[in-house]
Amino acid sequence: MGAILMRFNLYVKLMEECGEVVQACSKVLKRGRDGVEEVNLSEEVGDVLGVIRLLQSKDALDPVVVGEKLKQTYEKYEDLEL
Ligand SMILES: [Mg+2]
Repeated sequence: MGAILMRFNLYVKLMEECGEVVQACSKVLKRGRDGVEEVNLSEEVGDVLGVIRLLQSKDALDPVVVGEKLKQTYEKYEDLEL
């Protein structure tokens, strides 16, 4: 796969956007959840959800597996605090 194709590949975008979520979470932990940091985290999560929607629209994800894991993960972490 060429360098130009890699830049526009949805898997690459998912990796990039997940990395931006990691950075945004780090800033929230360092600086608090108020103001710009919370907005930035919300924006980055939106970016990840957008890429996931695109992957779903192209049948790149198994909807049953995604649904099962979503439920399991929600139940596993629902008692955690912010
Ligand atoms: Mg982003």
